Amino acid sequence: HSFEELGLPKPINDGLLAMNFKKPSKIQEKALPLMMGNPPRNMIAQSQSGTGKTAAFVLTVLSRVDLTQPTQPQALVLAPSRELARQIQGVTQTIGQFCENLIVEAAIPGSISRDTGVKGSVVVGTPGTVIDLIRRRQFDVSKLQVLVIDEADNMLDQQGMGEQCNRVKTMIPNSTQILLFSATFPEKVKAYAQRYAPNANEIQL
Ligand code: AMP
Repeated sequence: HSFEELGLPKPINDGLLAMNFKKPSKIQEKALPLMMGNPPRNMIAQSQSGTGKTAAFVLTVLSRVDLTQPTQPQALVLAPSRELARQIQGVTQTIGQFCENLIVEAAIPGSISRDTGVKGSVVVGTPGTVIDLIRRRQFDVSKLQVLVIDEADNMLDQQGMGEQCNRVKTMIPNSTQILLFSATFPEKVKAYAQRYAPNANEIQL
């Protein structure tokens, strides 16, 4: 199997070449055709870190953003910490380095100017900051195509963060594709995940 079979746009393929990713990892091979299909379907994917899960959702996100509207937020990735959000922002920028006009913004405490608000096609953030920005109308989520929750076991299970994730979901369009990634899905979290991402394809490594 190869990345070519996925029919990714040339700029994304060039990004993969630049990273020296020659063929999809196992999780990418299983998840990408399901996540990139149309009409979009939700995904619950269980995969340890180190298996290439970040690139799996980053490729899906990049394939779904319309860069003729580069300042219109179209994809949101939620992570449990600022550090992880920055890391995912970096991976997205690197794989997306040949995608003209792509803007990848971090929505973490202090990162977004109050004057301009969120002006990126892809936003990677922590839930509290994301909710604040949406509430203050500094982050327009009305055109969001895809929502990714990384480390979903951590995010959905924690008292505060689980509520914040619910909150975000009530603020985005019903049609937004939801992708949950996690190293583990204990029974309780699994049930929660299935409610959060209805009718999802489910895969595990
Ligand atoms: P992750 O599971 O997202 O933490 O990724 C683990 C590591 O695998 C990262 O250093 C990636 O750069 C690398 N990686 C991801 N996908 C591929 C691929 N298709 N080929 C080679 N390396 C990859």
